[in-house]
Amino acid sequence: RLVVTMQNVSKMFSNGTLALKDMSLDVRPGEFISLLGPSGCGKSTALRIIAGLGQASTGTIDWPSSKINSKGLPEGDVGFVFQEPTLMPWQTVFGNVYLPLKLRGVSKSAAREKVMENLASVGLADFAEAYPRELSGGMKMRVSIARALVTRPKLLLMDEPFAALDEITRQKLNDDVLDLWARTGVTVIFVTHSVYESAYLSNRIVVMRARPGQVFSDLEIDQPAE
Ligand code: ADP
Ligand code: ADP
Repeated sequence: RLVVTMQNVSKMFSNGTLALKDMSLDVRPGEFISLLGPSGCGKSTALRIIAGLGQASTGTIDWPSSKINSKGLPEGDVGFVFQEPTLMPWQTVFGNVYLPLKLRGVSKSAAREKVMENLASVGLADFAEAYPRELSGGMKMRVSIARALVTRPKLLLMDEPFAALDEITRQKLNDDVLDLWARTGVTVIFVTHSVYESAYLSNRIVVMRARPGQVFSDLEIDQPAE
Protein backbone atom coordinates (compact mmCIF):
# COMPACT_ATOMS: atom_id res chain seq x y z
CA ARG A 1 0.00 0.00 0.00
CA LEU A 2 1.17 3.48 -0.84
CA VAL A 3 2.24 5.74 2.01
CA VAL A 4 1.13 8.90 0.23
CA THR A 5 -0.48 9.57 -3.10
CA MET A 6 -0.74 13.07 -4.60
CA GLN A 7 -2.75 13.57 -7.74
CA ASN A 8 -2.46 16.75 -9.78
CA VAL A 9 -1.90 18.90 -6.73
CA SER A 10 -1.60 22.62 -7.34
CA LYS A 11 -1.07 25.31 -4.76
CA MET A 12 -1.81 28.96 -5.31
CA PHE A 13 -1.13 31.22 -2.32
CA SER A 14 -3.54 34.05 -1.58
CA ASN A 15 -1.04 36.57 -2.99
CA GLY A 16 -1.30 34.86 -6.38
CA THR A 17 1.95 32.88 -6.24
CA LEU A 18 1.59 29.54 -8.00
CA ALA A 19 3.91 27.44 -5.85
CA LEU A 20 3.00 23.99 -7.20
CA LYS A 21 1.50 23.00 -10.51
CA ASP A 22 -0.05 19.61 -11.18
CA MET A 23 2.21 17.62 -8.91
CA SER A 24 1.57 13.90 -8.79
CA LEU A 25 3.59 11.56 -6.63
CA ASP A 26 3.09 8.03 -5.32
CA VAL A 27 5.26 7.25 -2.33
CA ARG A 28 5.85 3.55 -1.71
CA PRO A 29 6.73 2.12 1.69
CA GLY A 30 10.43 2.11 2.52
CA GLU A 31 11.50 4.53 -0.18
CA PHE A 32 14.08 7.21 0.46
CA ILE A 33 13.02 9.99 -1.88
CA SER A 34 14.92 13.19 -2.44
CA LEU A 35 12.87 16.12 -3.58
CA LEU A 36 15.44 18.11 -5.52
CA GLY A 37 15.20 21.54 -7.04
CA PRO A 38 16.35 25.15 -6.76
CA SER A 39 15.18 27.45 -3.97
CA GLY A 40 11.65 28.67 -4.46
CA CYS A 41 10.50 25.82 -6.71
CA GLY A 42 7.87 24.62 -4.24
CA LYS A 43 9.65 21.83 -2.31
CA SER A 44 8.63 23.05 1.14
CA THR A 45 5.11 23.71 -0.05
CA ALA A 46 4.86 20.14 -1.34
CA LEU A 47 6.27 18.74 1.90
CA ARG A 48 3.86 20.73 4.03
CA ILE A 49 0.93 19.48 1.98
CA ILE A 50 2.18 15.89 2.32
CA ALA A 51 2.43 16.40 6.10
CA GLY A 52 -1.09 17.81 6.26
CA LEU A 53 0.33 21.17 7.40
CA GLY A 54 -0.87 22.98 4.29
CA GLN A 55 -3.82 22.57 1.97
CA ALA A 56 -3.77 21.96 -1.74
CA SER A 57 -5.71 24.47 -3.84
CA THR A 58 -6.71 21.78 -6.33
CA GLY A 59 -5.98 18.09 -6.71
CA THR A 60 -6.11 15.32 -4.15
CA ILE A 61 -3.82 13.93 -1.52
CA ASP A 62 -4.34 10.72 0.39
CA TRP A 63 -2.45 8.67 2.96
CA PRO A 64 -3.76 5.14 2.24
CA SER A 65 -1.90 3.42 5.08
CA SER A 66 -2.50 5.98 7.83
CA LYS A 67 -5.21 6.51 10.37
CA ILE A 68 -7.05 9.63 9.28
CA ASN A 69 -8.47 11.99 11.91
CA SER A 70 -11.71 13.96 11.79
CA LYS A 71 -9.98 16.77 9.87
CA GLY A 72 -9.00 14.31 7.15
CA LEU A 73 -5.32 14.42 8.14
CA PRO A 74 -2.93 11.59 9.00
CA GLU A 75 -2.56 11.17 12.71
CA GLY A 76 0.81 10.47 14.30
CA ASP A 77 2.13 8.86 11.17
CA VAL A 78 4.25 11.72 9.94
CA GLY A 79 7.44 13.00 11.55
CA PHE A 80 8.77 16.36 10.41
CA VAL A 81 12.32 17.71 10.69
CA PHE A 82 12.66 21.37 9.76
CA GLN A 83 15.78 23.24 8.71
CA GLU A 84 15.85 24.91 12.11
CA PRO A 85 15.87 22.40 14.95
CA THR A 86 12.97 24.25 16.72
CA LEU A 87 13.70 22.81 20.15
CA MET A 88 12.05 24.20 23.26
CA PRO A 89 14.85 26.02 25.07
CA TRP A 90 13.31 25.61 28.52
CA GLN A 91 13.06 21.85 28.15
CA THR A 92 15.90 19.38 28.47
CA VAL A 93 16.86 17.13 25.59
CA PHE A 94 14.76 14.43 27.24
CA GLY A 95 11.83 16.82 27.54
CA ASN A 96 12.04 17.81 23.90
CA VAL A 97 12.01 14.24 22.64
CA TYR A 98 9.28 13.31 25.11
CA LEU A 99 7.01 16.13 23.90
CA PRO A 100 5.23 14.30 21.02
CA LEU A 101 4.44 11.44 23.40
CA LYS A 102 3.31 13.86 26.10
CA LEU A 103 0.91 15.42 23.59
CA ARG A 104 -0.52 11.94 23.06
CA GLY A 105 -1.08 11.53 26.77
CA VAL A 106 1.82 9.18 27.52
CA SER A 107 3.19 9.66 31.03
CA LYS A 108 6.82 10.51 31.51
CA SER A 109 7.60 7.21 33.21
CA ALA A 110 5.90 5.18 30.49
CA ALA A 111 7.77 7.15 27.82
CA ARG A 112 11.21 7.01 29.43
CA GLU A 113 12.44 3.87 27.74
CA LYS A 114 11.30 4.92 24.28
CA VAL A 115 12.75 8.40 24.64
CA MET A 116 16.10 7.05 25.82
CA GLU A 117 16.14 4.49 23.03
CA ASN A 118 15.59 7.25 20.48
CA LEU A 119 18.29 9.40 22.02
CA ALA A 120 20.67 6.45 21.93
CA SER A 121 19.88 5.89 18.27
CA VAL A 122 21.20 9.38 17.48
CA GLY A 123 24.14 9.05 19.88
CA LEU A 124 22.83 11.41 22.54
CA ALA A 125 21.94 9.12 25.43
CA ASP A 126 24.44 10.95 27.65
CA PHE A 127 22.84 14.32 26.94
CA ALA A 128 19.30 13.61 28.11
CA GLU A 129 19.52 16.14 30.93
CA ALA A 130 21.31 18.84 28.92
CA TYR A 131 19.49 21.92 27.60
CA PRO A 132 19.48 22.84 23.90
CA ARG A 133 21.74 25.87 24.49
CA GLU A 134 24.47 23.47 25.66
CA LEU A 135 24.45 21.58 22.36
CA SER A 136 26.16 22.17 19.02
CA GLY A 137 24.10 22.72 15.88
CA GLY A 138 24.61 19.12 14.78
CA MET A 139 23.55 17.79 18.16
CA LYS A 140 20.39 19.90 18.07
CA MET A 141 19.55 18.41 14.68
CA ARG A 142 20.02 14.94 16.16
CA VAL A 143 17.60 15.81 18.93
CA SER A 144 14.99 16.94 16.43
CA ILE A 145 15.45 13.72 14.44
CA ALA A 146 14.97 11.70 17.64
CA ARG A 147 11.87 13.77 18.41
CA ALA A 148 10.43 13.20 14.92
CA LEU A 149 10.90 9.44 15.21
CA VAL A 150 9.75 8.89 18.80
CA THR A 151 6.15 8.23 17.75
CA ARG A 152 7.34 5.64 15.19
CA PRO A 153 5.92 7.47 12.18
CA LYS A 154 5.54 5.69 8.86
CA LEU A 155 6.84 8.70 7.03
CA LEU A 156 9.74 11.01 7.92
CA LEU A 157 9.75 14.37 6.15
CA MET A 158 12.93 16.42 6.22
CA ASP A 159 13.06 19.95 4.86
CA GLU A 160 16.69 20.83 4.01
CA PRO A 161 17.54 19.63 7.49
CA PHE A 162 21.29 20.13 7.45
CA ALA A 163 21.62 23.17 5.20
CA ALA A 164 22.85 25.38 8.04
CA LEU A 165 25.58 22.98 9.21
CA ASP A 166 29.25 22.73 8.21
CA GLU A 167 30.15 20.12 5.58
CA ILE A 168 31.68 17.58 7.94
CA THR A 169 28.80 17.61 10.40
CA ARG A 170 26.40 17.46 7.51
CA GLN A 171 28.09 14.41 6.03
CA LYS A 172 28.00 12.66 9.41
CA LEU A 173 24.33 13.41 9.84
CA ASN A 174 23.59 12.18 6.33
CA ASP A 175 25.24 8.88 7.27
CA ASP A 176 23.23 8.76 10.48
CA VAL A 177 19.99 9.32 8.59
CA LEU A 178 20.87 6.49 6.19
CA ASP A 179 21.56 4.30 9.19
CA LEU A 180 18.24 5.15 10.80
CA TRP A 181 16.45 4.54 7.54
CA ALA A 182 18.07 1.10 7.14
CA ARG A 183 17.38 0.13 10.75
CA THR A 184 13.79 1.39 11.04
CA GLY A 185 12.43 0.95 7.53
CA VAL A 186 10.81 4.38 7.77
CA THR A 187 9.83 5.98 4.47
CA VAL A 188 11.75 9.23 3.96
CA ILE A 189 11.16 12.31 1.83
CA PHE A 190 14.19 14.54 2.00
CA VAL A 191 14.08 18.04 0.52
CA THR A 192 17.37 19.37 -0.76
CA HIS A 193 18.84 21.62 -3.42
CA SER A 194 22.04 19.60 -3.44
CA VAL A 195 22.47 17.18 -6.34
CA TYR A 196 25.27 15.53 -4.40
CA GLU A 197 23.14 15.00 -1.32
CA SER A 198 20.24 13.57 -3.30
CA ALA A 199 22.49 11.11 -5.13
CA TYR A 200 24.27 10.12 -1.94
CA LEU A 201 21.15 9.53 0.10
CA SER A 202 18.25 8.36 -1.92
CA ASN A 203 16.97 5.55 -4.06
CA ARG A 204 14.61 7.85 -5.89
CA ILE A 205 15.11 11.44 -6.94
CA VAL A 206 12.17 13.63 -7.82
CA VAL A 207 13.41 16.72 -9.63
CA MET A 208 11.34 19.88 -9.64
CA ARG A 209 11.44 22.63 -12.20
CA ALA A 210 12.29 26.12 -11.06
CA ARG A 211 9.04 27.52 -12.40
CA PRO A 212 6.19 26.98 -12.06
CA GLY A 213 6.69 24.27 -9.44
CA GLN A 214 6.26 21.18 -11.57
CA VAL A 215 7.83 17.75 -11.31
CA PHE A 216 10.43 17.61 -14.06
CA SER A 217 11.64 14.04 -13.71
CA ASP A 218 11.35 11.11 -11.38
CA LEU A 219 14.44 8.90 -11.28
CA GLU A 220 14.62 5.50 -9.69
CA ILE A 221 18.10 4.47 -8.67
CA ASP A 222 18.76 0.72 -8.74
CA GLN A 223 21.25 0.62 -5.93
CA PRO A 224 19.85 2.07 -2.76
CA ALA A 225 22.49 4.02 -0.88
CA GLU A 226 24.25 1.91 1.76
P1 ADP B 1 11.31 25.82 -1.86
O1 ADP B 1 11.04 25.02 -0.63
O2 ADP B 1 11.54 24.98 -3.05
O3 ADP B 1 12.41 26.81 -1.67
P2 ADP B 1 8.73 27.03 -1.32
O4 ADP B 1 7.78 25.89 -1.34
O5 ADP B 1 9.17 27.52 0.00
O6 ADP B 1 9.99 26.65 -2.22
O7 ADP B 1 8.11 28.24 -2.10
C1 ADP B 1 7.57 28.12 -3.43
C2 ADP B 1 7.06 29.48 -3.90
O8 ADP B 1 5.93 29.83 -3.10
C3 ADP B 1 8.06 30.61 -3.72
O9 ADP B 1 7.88 31.51 -4.77
C4 ADP B 1 7.67 31.21 -2.41
O10 ADP B 1 8.04 32.57 -2.34
C5 ADP B 1 6.15 31.05 -2.42
N1 ADP B 1 5.56 30.93 -1.08
C6 ADP B 1 5.90 30.03 -0.12
N2 ADP B 1 5.13 30.19 0.97
C7 ADP B 1 4.29 31.21 0.70
C8 ADP B 1 3.22 31.86 1.41
N3 ADP B 1 2.87 31.47 2.64
N4 ADP B 1 2.58 32.88 0.80
C9 ADP B 1 2.91 33.27 -0.43
N5 ADP B 1 3.88 32.70 -1.17
C10 ADP B 1 4.56 31.69 -0.62
P1 ADP C 1 6.95 18.85 32.73
O1 ADP C 1 8.15 18.71 31.85
O2 ADP C 1 7.25 18.55 34.17
O3 ADP C 1 5.76 18.13 32.22
P2 ADP C 1 6.33 21.41 31.56
O4 ADP C 1 6.77 20.83 30.28
O5 ADP C 1 4.93 21.91 31.61
O6 ADP C 1 6.58 20.41 32.76
O7 ADP C 1 7.28 22.60 31.96
C1 ADP C 1 8.60 22.39 32.41
C2 ADP C 1 9.11 23.72 32.94
O8 ADP C 1 9.17 24.68 31.89
C3 ADP C 1 8.23 24.30 34.03
O9 ADP C 1 9.04 24.91 35.02
C4 ADP C 1 7.41 25.35 33.29
O10 ADP C 1 7.02 26.39 34.12
C5 ADP C 1 8.39 25.80 32.22
N1 ADP C 1 7.69 26.25 31.02
C6 ADP C 1 6.69 25.60 30.37
N2 ADP C 1 6.27 26.29 29.30
C7 ADP C 1 7.05 27.40 29.23
C8 ADP C 1 7.14 28.52 28.34
N3 ADP C 1 6.33 28.64 27.27
N4 ADP C 1 8.06 29.47 28.58
C9 ADP C 1 8.89 29.34 29.62
N5 ADP C 1 8.87 28.32 30.53
C10 ADP C 1 7.95 27.37 30.34
